[in-house]
Amino acid sequence: MAEPEDDTVDYVVVGSGAGGGTVAARLAEAGMSVIVLEAGADPAGLSAESLPDDYDVPAFHPFASENTAMAWNYRVHDFGDDAERRPDVDAMGRCGVLYPRASTLGGCTAHHAMILIAPPDSDWNAIAELTGDRSWRADAVRRYFQRLENCRYRPLWRWIARLTGGRVNPTGHGWDGWLDVEVPTPVEALGDRPLIKTILGAIAAALDLARRSSLSRLGRMLERLIERSRRLLIGEDDPNDQRLQGKLAEGLTLAPLSTARGRRGGARERVKGAMTSHGLRVEFDALATRVLFDESRRAIGVEYRKGRALYRACPEPGREPGVLRRVLARREVILAAGAFNTPQLLMLSGVGPPEELARHGIEAHVPLEGVGRNLQDRYEIGVIHKTDRPWECLDGVAFAAGDPIHKEWERGRGMYRSNGAAVAFSLRSKAARDQGAAPDLFVMALVTRFLGYFTGHSDIIRNSRGDLTFAVLKAHTNNCGGRVHLTSPDPRDPPAIDFCGFEEGTDRSGEDLEAVVDGVERVRRMTARIPRFLAPEDTPGADFQDREQLRDFIRRHAWGHHASCTCPIGPPEAGGVLRSDFRVRGTEGLRVVDASVFPRIPGFFIVCAIYMVAEKASDAILDATSARPCNHLGQPVARRVAQQ
Ligand SMILES: Cc1cc2nc3c(=O)[nH]c(=O)nc-3n(C[C@H](O)[C@H](O)[C@H](O)COP(=O)(O)OP(=O)(O)OC[C@H]3O[C@@H](n4cnc5c(N)ncnc54)[C@H](O)[C@@H]3O)c2cc1C
Repeated sequence: MAEPEDDTVDYVVVGSGAGGGTVAARLAEAGMSVIVLEAGADPAGLSAESLPDDYDVPAFHPFASENTAMAWNYRVHDFGDDAERRPDVDAMGRCGVLYPRASTLGGCTAHHAMILIAPPDSDWNAIAELTGDRSWRADAVRRYFQRLENCRYRPLWRWIARLTGGRVNPTGHGWDGWLDVEVPTPVEALGDRPLIKTILGAIAAALDLARRSSLSRLGRMLERLIERSRRLLIGEDDPNDQRLQGKLAEGLTLAPLSTARGRRGGARERVKGAMTSHGLRVEFDALATRVLFDESRRAIGVEYRKGRALYRACPEPGREPGVLRRVLARREVILAAGAFNTPQLLMLSGVGPPEELARHGIEAHVPLEGVGRNLQDRYEIGVIHKTDRPWECLDGVAFAAGDPIHKEWERGRGMYRSNGAAVAFSLRSKAARDQGAAPDLFVMALVTRFLGYFTGHSDIIRNSRGDLTFAVLKAHTNNCGGRVHLTSPDPRDPPAIDFCGFEEGTDRSGEDLEAVVDGVERVRRMTARIPRFLAPEDTPGADFQDREQLRDFIRRHAWGHHASCTCPIGPPEAGGVLRSDFRVRGTEGLRVVDASVFPRIPGFFIVCAIYMVAEKASDAILDATSARPCNHLGQPVARRVAQQ
């Protein structure tokens, strides 16, 4: 029988997550023929228990991250003794700290916590400086945020922008992008007015935000009215308002979510839209195994294996090897398989550090030392108390379809619209204060018990009724010593991931660790103001009082979930893998568009930055063609500032 002919398209995109889904949809909208190879399936089409609710319902995101139908469970090393830290063993007997990833349509946007915060201007300007490419300057990159966002939580400015045809828009928000962004207010979403009010009061007092007023009742009402109007206009607690760029002060902040009427939205919806209206094709259950090159190192296609659960990070990997296939690219191949899998795929294709490739018998077609190096993440830790009574908002909650709160959610209301964060605020560590820098700590008060990621972590959340967790997250960590290594030349084997945390990494000053300790101490000062509602702190707890004890606790218990920077843009002498237009150095027709591309981990939260770079990449890719970029409604959009 004759061999089936290879499929040929303009662009082959590997991965349908925040990077891949976004860029693929944009290319399809510009009239290109595009196929996405996605190792997972569409969560809506899986018969697994609790899908599609685990996907759709914001409050179910912890269950989504443990849903075996979507999960790729990595076991990573971050610091010290893995077995002591979190003795999680996978189906293959591998031990290490659990690091959840989603392998499904939408990638990790299918299980993430939906927080959408654009990085500060300084992050983009640093890339412009590193590369000498002005198209990375913050004033040029902001347009990509506007292109993707459909902001639903600033109604006054939305209305003014509509009325003026977009000419008056000091907020810098986007009003007609493909990603709906909303903010469930704490009381609306969670109820428990007295407790929320007390927490807010304690935070404000500890941050010195509360101003004592000697005004009469009427005066205080007027003061509140003026304050509310000011917030409405200036949006001083809106981290995505461009007027706050570089000026974000310590204090309460909104944590905008990528939801549409309280339902998760992300790369999956983006891809589905382009499939329906622009012929974007997705090959599900397709594990890319190698990029195909011609003799001039031009990427001409991708080899993949077709089959369910082929990758050995699946909770229950299949035994069959899958069927070997190829798809050819007339124009380019775009890798968007995420910060662990993109460098793995490059190395399997002979692009990477020659010594490492040689160890696995892979010929180095393109020697590139930086591939898989520079791995970065944040540090996160929880300060946990029991509350004096169960949360009112969790009364009757079963976290399942059919419970009364789920019925409310179906009507677009109630606490299931929320990701569980009652309140968020930003802080400066001592080092940031000394340097006069912006806040580098983000804290969320969660109405649950959250101890990080390990097998069964979501059961604790499911059963929690009276806990309050202050999750402290360190942004802009200094450590770039992490690495992704091949464990074998078999594309079904996950790579070894070594974050080299704390003293094992490159943060010689120890600033990262000190900052997290500062965060915990500041939170403790706040919780000391709420004794009426809270039992004594149980985590870290009484045994971890002074800074040395806290350092010890944080080293052993911190977690992260924003892995990035493993194929960074930048000059090769600085470990750079990509040119500033996302092209892989030493190759033709091959780009990377996902969390791997950043030289340094951006902002407080990463996904907004990934969506933005994917929008930017689509312009860079279409620049090489005569196609006109369009938006998701099929309307032509302006090209970006010329690339250098
Ligand atoms: C639990 C959790 C919560 C999070 N919450 C937030 C949050 O609230 N806000 C925020 O900003 N960030 C959050 N993040 C981080 C954010 O979601 C991810 O960093 C982001 O989605 C990564 O995007 P990406 O495009 O790099 O890769 P991904 O979104 O991971 O997509 C990669 C895709 O590639 C596919 N793939 C991989 N290898 C192959 C292969 N060989 N062949 C074919 N397909 C392949 C995978 O199946 C996957 O679908 C969270 C992450 C986690 C784990």
